[in-house]
Amino acid sequence: MTFSILAILFLATILAVSLVGFRAIIRQGKAPEDANKEKCSVCRTQYNKSQLIEREVGDYRVLHFCQSCIISLHNEIISKN
Ligand SMILES: [Zn+2]
Repeated sequence: MTFSILAILFLATILAVSLVGFRAIIRQGKAPEDANKEKCSVCRTQYNKSQLIEREVGDYRVLHFCQSCIISLHNEIISKN
């Protein structure tokens, strides 16, 4: 009896985990607007890709900069010179 309860619990756990995983996959496929979004590499705020400047650093790393970070970087370099 104990064994069958454990077996059912085990199966239920596997089912729950696979359901959660499946839902995550569905959600990824259902959100094409999220594919258009990217986080600013400086302030980590999420923006639409059209609002960000993209720069490739090195061979593989791509950095994104939002307008307010670019302005603050601009002000920083201006104040230095
Ligand atoms: Zn930013």
